[in-house]
Amino acid sequence: MLQSFIKNKFSKSISLRLFSHVLPRVGLDIAEPLIFEQGLEGCIGVDIEDRDPNVKHRLGDLQRTSKIGLPNLNEVQVVRHFSKLSRYNYGLDTGLYPLGSCTMKYNPRINEVVCRIPSLLNSHPFLPTDAVQGSLGLIHRLAQDLLKITGMNSICMSPAAGAHGELCAMQTIAQAHQKQGNTHKKYVLIPDAAHGTNPATCTMAGFKVRVVKSTKDGKIDFEDFKKKCKDDVAGAMITNPNTCGLFEKDICKIADLLHEKGAYLFMDGANMNALMGRVFVSDLGIDAMHMNLHKTFSTPHGSSGPGSGPVVFSEKLTKYAPIPFISKEGDEFKTTEIDETGNSFGRMKAYYGQIGIHARTLAYILAMGNGLAAVSGDAVLNANYLKHKLQDTISVGFPNNKYCMHEVLFCERFLKNTTITTLDFAKAMIDAGFHPPTIYFPLVVHGAMLMEPTESESKESLDDYCKTMINIAKLAVSGKHDEEFHNTPMAAPIRRTDETRAAKFPILTYQEK
Ligand SMILES: *Cc1c(COP(=O)(O)O)cnc(C)c1O
Repeated sequence: MLQSFIKNKFSKSISLRLFSHVLPRVGLDIAEPLIFEQGLEGCIGVDIEDRDPNVKHRLGDLQRTSKIGLPNLNEVQVVRHFSKLSRYNYGLDTGLYPLGSCTMKYNPRINEVVCRIPSLLNSHPFLPTDAVQGSLGLIHRLAQDLLKITGMNSICMSPAAGAHGELCAMQTIAQAHQKQGNTHKKYVLIPDAAHGTNPATCTMAGFKVRVVKSTKDGKIDFEDFKKKCKDDVAGAMITNPNTCGLFEKDICKIADLLHEKGAYLFMDGANMNALMGRVFVSDLGIDAMHMNLHKTFSTPHGSSGPGSGPVVFSEKLTKYAPIPFISKEGDEFKTTEIDETGNSFGRMKAYYGQIGIHARTLAYILAMGNGLAAVSGDAVLNANYLKHKLQDTISVGFPNNKYCMHEVLFCERFLKNTTITTLDFAKAMIDAGFHPPTIYFPLVVHGAMLMEPTESESKESLDDYCKTMINIAKLAVSGKHDEEFHNTPMAAPIRRTDETRAAKFPILTYQEK
């Protein structure tokens, strides 16, 4: 009975009703209550000696009189709670993870061995530089490799994520203008397809956003860009390949135009997995670019961390870049903590960056060597394979482009005669055992589904994914299952959540009901 339920997730099977007296237990996938909602009052997992009633409390009158508010669980309950939660993790290690723009690629296990070397793991950022020569050498070597990969002039290793790297780049551009007395340069040009972090960063760095339109092919409208690139423009933030998975062919013309106006070009390098080993971004006229080590260079990520977003700079911007940086003199690695020229805008954060991520990234680069070009090649090939297999069933966002780069954008046009939305489709994928792609981003198409398979997937796994996607799409357009689609996912312990509310009004402490 249960088996038929698992096989036939799109109809509420009799078996579900049969087992309804034990729900929400289905299979062994059990909805886990909060740790505060379980256990019995007074239950604890450790033995604490009873307090001697004759000894006066050392805190005098300051002892707590209200309840402490800790969960009441024994040891087994604690272990079960966290083990169950760990099984809710979905990651590349459990299956295909086609989240567009996120580059969810396999993190080779050698990375984990390397970053756990005890001397690296246990070193403290306050140790004197002669005691951490190995760590400094590691960061320096990685910095040199990233410069080699990008062809750029200098690098800042400290930013803690992609968005932090963007801020680092834009603050450097702001500093350059300030030092040059360009007080009239207040605007930054950003395409309408940009990642939300771009306009947010621009605003945080003190600039105003001027939006540039996309063409009907999903690329920057160069004429619109030209019109908006006036004397008051400080720079532009361009993602390449863009968030539609398309290469911005006008990038060099865009760079020239900006430079003529005394403005700088920042490239959002989160999509380097399409370019790595194939193009020196320095050849594109870029002045600053952040890289997401936790995307392109295989280090694990998700749920807000850890990340690392180093920024590379052109020669023009180098002197305004932040401190600290590491240099090599003879056999010794030195750190520069104070900028004596007075040009640098300061620091992004304490210390030198995410050493654990740096170690994993260097391990990945050394293991791959020249194979980094094969990585980007395979990533682009896999995305085009998905596009080719799915495009007759699921509408491509911008069908005029023959090829895509490392990700492919679909939209909900194929669902137009149904009441099914992209959200319903994505939730149905969960019932069918696949993690959904990125949905409703970018905003330039209706009901976007952005898929990025990365180079980690085999042909077999892509075929399996496509077969399921096509089956779901056929059920969707048949017009017979709208109601069921609205009710998906049925086989997940938690079904539809109000994600906007969760993001905007998170409740971060337990509130007793
Ligand atoms: C992921 C991403 C970012 C932000 O990176 P975080 O590390 O999540 O801050 C910025 N731009 C694009 C295009 C991205 O895909």
